[in-house]
Amino acid sequence: MSEKLTAQIVAIGTELLLGNTVDTNSAYIAKELGKQGLAVESIAVEGDDEGRIVAALQKALAEATVVFTTGGLGPTIDDKTRSSVAAAVGRDLVFDEDLLAQIEARFAKFKRKMKPNNRTQAWIPADALPLENPVGTAPCFIVEEGNKALISLPGVPREMKYMLQNRVIPYLRKRYSLTQVLKTRTLHVVGMGESDIDARISNLEELENPIVGLGAHAGVVDIRITASADTMAEADKLIAEVEAEAREKLGAAIYGVDGETPADAVVRNLQASGNKTLYIVESGTAALMATRVAAADVGGTTFVGSQLGATLAHGQDLVPIVEQRVKATAANVAADFVCANVVTSEGKDVSYATAIWSKTDGLIISDHRDASANAAYVSSWGANGCMSRLLDHLRKTA
Ligand code: ATP
Repeated sequence: MSEKLTAQIVAIGTELLLGNTVDTNSAYIAKELGKQGLAVESIAVEGDDEGRIVAALQKALAEATVVFTTGGLGPTIDDKTRSSVAAAVGRDLVFDEDLLAQIEARFAKFKRKMKPNNRTQAWIPADALPLENPVGTAPCFIVEEGNKALISLPGVPREMKYMLQNRVIPYLRKRYSLTQVLKTRTLHVVGMGESDIDARISNLEELENPIVGLGAHAGVVDIRITASADTMAEADKLIAEVEAEAREKLGAAIYGVDGETPADAVVRNLQASGNKTLYIVESGTAALMATRVAAADVGGTTFVGSQLGATLAHGQDLVPIVEQRVKATAANVAADFVCANVVTSEGKDVSYATAIWSKTDGLIISDHRDASANAAYVSSWGANGCMSRLLDHLRKTA
C-alpha cells in the first residue's frame, strides 16, 4: 500500500477527564502500533458525552486510516461507545445473537449472575466485525468503512492489551499488509551539550533510515535512533550500525541506553569497578544527587551516605570550597569516592562546582562552570553534571 497509513485514538471515559484515571491505554496502543510501523498522529480524550464522542470519531476518521476507541463498552447507561460509533458512521445498532451467547458463556464460566443490562453489550453497529473477548465481558468490534477501520477496545487495561495483541494487530497486519516493524533505541549522553553532539554526529542526523534525533533535558541529551525494517532482527542491525558510529564519535559521553538514568549508570559503574562505594556532599541542589543515587542503589551497597553542605552565596570562587569539602569529608568517612557538588545562582546566572576524591588517588577532579539556566532545572543540571564527571572517571579507569 503506497499511501501513508496513520492511526488516531479516542480514549473514552469521564474519569479520564476528571484526572481520576490516567490514560495509559492510549500510550500502550501508540507504542504497540509504532512497533508495527503504524504511526499514531493524534490522541483525543472524551468524556461520556455522545455528541462530543461522535464529533471526535468523525474528525479522526476523516484524517486517519485506523481509528481506535478505548473504554465505554460496559453495560451501563454511561457507556457510550457502541452508540457513538454507530452514529459516527451512520449505521444502526443491531443485536448480535452470537455475541450474546459469548457473553452468557463468560458469565456461566465464572459462575457470575448475568444482569439484564449485560444484554446491551451484544448490540453492535450493523455489519461490524465482532471480536470475541475471552478475558472480559465487553465484546469488541471493528467497523470497516472503505479502506478505513474503526476499532473499539475495552477500557480495562488487561483486556485492552489482550485484544490488541491477539486480535487487532494480526487483523491490521493482514488487512494493511503491514510488513514493517519500527524499533527505537535511545542513547543517553552527559557532560556534552546538544550543539557539540550535533556537530559530531550531524551526518547520522541526515540518514533516512534509521532516523536519528536529539532531545535535551537538564544536563542529559538523548539520541533517539528509530529504524524501520521487515523484521526486528533487521531493525536491530540498522540501529547497531548507527549506534557503533555514534559511540565512536562521542565515546564515553554516552553513559547508558533506553531506561537508564545517570544515577543508574553511576551505581552500575561503581559496582562493576569492584563494588566501590560513594559518599556525597552537596549544596544548592536540593540534595538531588544523593536522592537519585540512593534510589538507584537498589541493593543499598554503593551509596554509603550524604550530607548537605552550607548553602553558599553566588559570585565567589567555588573551586577551593568544593576541594576543601571533599578532603575534609574523605578524612572522616569510609568510602571509595567522595563527591562534593555545589550550585549557586542569582537569577539566571548559575555556577556549578564539582570535586571528586578517590581513596586511592586523592583529588581526581575539580572544576567549575558558569551557565545561564532556568531555575527549575538548576538542581538537575548540578546533579547530572557531577554524575557525568564521576562516570567519565570510572570509564577511563575501567
Ligand atoms: P468493561 O465493560 O469491561 O468495564 P469498558 O470498556 O466499559 O469495559 P470502562 O468502564 O470505560 O471500560 O473502564 C473500565 C476501567 O478501565 C476504568 O475504571 C479504568 O480503571 C480503566 N480504564 C478505562 N479507560 C482507560 C484508559 N484510557 N487508560 C487506562 N485505564 C483505563
